Amino acid sequence: MQPVANLYIHLPFCKHKCGYCDFNAYAGMDRLMPDYVDALERELAAAREERDFSRLSTVYLGGGTPSLLPADLVARLLRFIRGTFDIAADAEITLEANPASTDESRLAAWLEGGVNRLSLGVQGFEPRALAVLERKTDAAQATRAFTLARSMGVANLSIDLIYAVPYQSRESWVETLRRALALGPDHVSTYCLTFEEGTLLWRRRAEGKLPELDPDLQWDQLDSAVAQLEAGGFRRYEVSNWARPGFESQHNLAYWRCRPVYGGGAGAHSYATDGIRAWRWWNIARPREYIAACPAPRADGEELPQRKAGAEALMLGLRTAEGVAPPAGFEDELGRLALAGLIESFDGRVAPTRRGMDLHNQIALAVL
Ligand code: SF4
Repeated sequence: MQPVANLYIHLPFCKHKCGYCDFNAYAGMDRLMPDYVDALERELAAAREERDFSRLSTVYLGGGTPSLLPADLVARLLRFIRGTFDIAADAEITLEANPASTDESRLAAWLEGGVNRLSLGVQGFEPRALAVLERKTDAAQATRAFTLARSMGVANLSIDLIYAVPYQSRESWVETLRRALALGPDHVSTYCLTFEEGTLLWRRRAEGKLPELDPDLQWDQLDSAVAQLEAGGFRRYEVSNWARPGFESQHNLAYWRCRPVYGGGAGAHSYATDGIRAWRWWNIARPREYIAACPAPRADGEELPQRKAGAEALMLGLRTAEGVAPPAGFEDELGRLALAGLIESFDGRVAPTRRGMDLHNQIALAVL
């Protein structure tokens, strides 16, 4: 089995549940935070004993809203991770932060604990789009959080933005991109809004309370993102992700490269591989049940046979500009994708074309 060099930690707490969100995230559970961190420590200590970890090259605190954790609790968790795992001196250590809970004392605790990359969930600047998404933050908070983080020494700052939001025109999206770029981020993620069944947004659309999206407008918005971010010095290194050179997310690249990742925390997924077959498992999702089950919170898992593991590696690698060395047995699928202009080959690898990046769902359908 390949040793694990990438660690994900899930912190499922949120101030409120956003209308579009189907992540494993919960509002109104803040009082569980200390017990949750205790449980995480039990899980991670057991995992460290049972599994083969090499020196960690990435640690990612995601959620939920990891920035909601009080400064002393997140400091303790980061100390525990540093004490339990061997972390490379140049490891990328990311924390996902909401602008509303990014303050001076927390930033000091993150930096002190080794966090060197912040992923700020800005999502947008325009009040109407933020209202549709039911985000409780605004443009002023996002700007303040970004500026404070930069001034306190966060050298690698990423911003998340969402497009294809009902009522969001091409012009308002272009203005959103302009305002994001004006802050001077190192990395930008642009997500196309999806309506996930069971979310409030999905119900509102089903009840006819939101306008239908115009697919042409969605394409125009994607085109605007490509033009503006490229003009701003960013490279699209993955379907939805843009970076200045050298600021690509190493943690997310580990997923797209099908490297082993250990996921700790409620609902977190882990991935292991011997280079041919792969295994995936996931933890109990609900925080109370997760806490009770630690240090053994695994809910279920599956082995991916060689063909399925290869298909996933191909599909994920074809999300990235660097592409992937194609596994054997997919020659027909790759031939069809090349004919459709969705992929190209170079140096024994296959990579998506611009069209293939825009239409990655067609690649996924052909390969999986
Ligand atoms: S803050 Fe993020 S994780 Fe939490 S509910 Fe909103 S979208 Fe979901």
